[in-house]
Amino acid sequence: MHPQTRLTLAGQSTDSTFNSVSLPIYQSAIFRFNADGTKPEYDYSRSGNPTRTALEQTLADLEGGAGAVCVGSGMAAVASVLSLYPAGSHIICSHDCYGGTERLLSWWQRQGKINVSFVDLTDPLELALHITPQTRALWVETPSNPLLRVTDLYQVGSVAKDAGIDFIVDNTFLTPLLQRPIDFGADYVVHSTTKYLNGHSDVVGGAVIAATKEGHEAVHFAANAQGATAVPFDSWLILRGLKTLPIRLRQHQENADAVARYLATHHAVEEVYYPGLSSHTGHETAARQQAGFGGMLSFRVREGFPISRLLSATRVFTLAESLGGVESLIEQPATMSHASMRPEAREAAGITDEVIRLSVGIEFVDDLIADLEQAFDVAIRPEGGTPRTNGHHVPRASTNGVTVHG
Ligand SMILES: *Cc1c(COP(=O)(O)O)cnc(C)c1O
Repeated sequence: MHPQTRLTLAGQSTDSTFNSVSLPIYQSAIFRFNADGTKPEYDYSRSGNPTRTALEQTLADLEGGAGAVCVGSGMAAVASVLSLYPAGSHIICSHDCYGGTERLLSWWQRQGKINVSFVDLTDPLELALHITPQTRALWVETPSNPLLRVTDLYQVGSVAKDAGIDFIVDNTFLTPLLQRPIDFGADYVVHSTTKYLNGHSDVVGGAVIAATKEGHEAVHFAANAQGATAVPFDSWLILRGLKTLPIRLRQHQENADAVARYLATHHAVEEVYYPGLSSHTGHETAARQQAGFGGMLSFRVREGFPISRLLSATRVFTLAESLGGVESLIEQPATMSHASMRPEAREAAGITDEVIRLSVGIEFVDDLIADLEQAFDVAIRPEGGTPRTNGHHVPRASTNGVTVHG
């Protein structure tokens, strides 16, 4: 069956007591042991819970992995995988990875637990130069955050395979519907399920999908031992969100493409970073290894542009971190999502103040473009210029207590 059908049916209950169609939330910490001493399937919800299992099986199926482990946040997923490597291990990581991943790896390095090299992976030759006998894993995020740099999964995966090191991909930006890293040799795939997989900005969660049964057992051991596993209610919400992922993604992409093309024509915009544009340096690689270009994009405004005025002027785009929810978000990575990165690391990754990131939602696209257009106008308008009514809704008519805004 097509993933769209598999997702619609995902987790559909096999409850034979009441025949519920929706999977129950097994809101129980403990499960009764069998009187005959045989081990029950579940005993304690940190180690296993039926609602979480349904989500894990769905994600493992989508990514083409042997198994998945769902945990309490994307960072718990990152930490669960990275905790597999013994003290003194060397890890190579994309130089423009998620800010929280950079923070965790740098902290562990300062504590003397591991060594880490942050490398520009758009050049696979550069990667090979950093591999040492202590290197145990390669961590890749593609497209990267926030500049949407594209790493060739086949190329870097081959370098990792030749060196005998683990190949880990953070697939949060695209989801398994648009990119399947295990097909390119990845050993582990990591997700912040907070983003597109749940898709409604109401749960923080994470997942690790392992290519092999041994990998799955290792990650399950780490997540259970460290107490990172996800709670039943959040697992249920994410499973519910997943059912509409294919149709949400289609709208996210269609809107992102239109917004990218609009921004590319705006005089205040110096560069648009969206792999769907043929001008993007990673366009061809993205077209080869991705089934779509996703809903994330960034753009760079010219130096001296009044960014804070732009950010406070949008009415449809919400000024917020995070991404992948149905609603559109706007943010400045240097001061928000990537503020946790060391300034040198941020600089090296090209994340200057002029970069603005959009998570394009599923609204009617004309409203998104009109919103950006009026926000640019407000930002550029000379101080003391005639204020427009934007942001000040003037009620036009009111019937039955329902106010109709002009
Ligand atoms: C958000 C995010 C994370 C961290 O996930 P949380 O759920 O916020 O802990 C990791 N990687 C990427 C690419 C992300 O966008």
